[in-house]
Amino acid sequence: MKRLFLSFFLLLFSSFCLAQRDDFSILRKQMVERQIKARGIKDIHILKVMQNVERHKFVPPSLEKYAYDDRPLPIGYDQTISQPYIVALMTKLLSPKPKDKVLEIGTGSGYQAAILAELVEKVYTIEIIPELAEAAKKKLKILGYENIFVKCGNGYLGWPEMAPFDGIIVTCSPKDVPQPLIEQLKEGGRMVIPVGKGLPQKLLVLYKKEGKIIKKYITDVLFVPMRHKQKLN
Ligand code: SAH
Repeated sequence: MKRLFLSFFLLLFSSFCLAQRDDFSILRKQMVERQIKARGIKDIHILKVMQNVERHKFVPPSLEKYAYDDRPLPIGYDQTISQPYIVALMTKLLSPKPKDKVLEIGTGSGYQAAILAELVEKVYTIEIIPELAEAAKKKLKILGYENIFVKCGNGYLGWPEMAPFDGIIVTCSPKDVPQPLIEQLKEGGRMVIPVGKGLPQKLLVLYKKEGKIIKKYITDVLFVPMRHKQKLN
């Protein structure tokens, strides 16, 4: 009788887990269709990673059910995980290639880093809040990402030891494009960055061509400000 009860309980528990998993994958499919494809992002590699990476694992457990909503969500310490469409758009603008080495400023939850890690060879990511850096490092390790390197520090300064980078993606907003990041961009490289002294900020893509920087305005965006611009690590 006890055994029967136990197997019944196990059956119930596993179908509950399966149902949850399926629900999330359906929500992810809807997110890709309605928020990303419908707004014009058609790159199959990007759509595939947005479909595969489990965004609900990057938000606080109490917000899991909102993980696929069309909006940013709080991740603690007054910071947010970006809206899915913005993650997809910035990823597309970065034009990631399989052999690329990419730098991200503002690790936050680690979600954008995970998306990039599926598309490029190596992702270096810097987070200024020690607790967030530590949590992202742990999570990305548990999820099996061996090509993401997380550092706690001031991203304004970039990561000179690992430069130059094929791509730089900035997910917090400085007032101006940081000079160290321009210097750490490879010839032919792309930088995607929200910049602005007020709100909204301007999402820009910078291309380095023959040593010169070409800037392209994409759209208005709202990002958390970049902190401690002048401070050293
Ligand atoms: N890319 C993140 C979202 C980041 S929110 C994700 O996928 O979840 C912006 C992050 O930038 C915050 O975590 C904030 O702490 C961080 N940040 C702000 N100023 C920074 C700086 N100077 N250097 C590095 N990180 C910074």
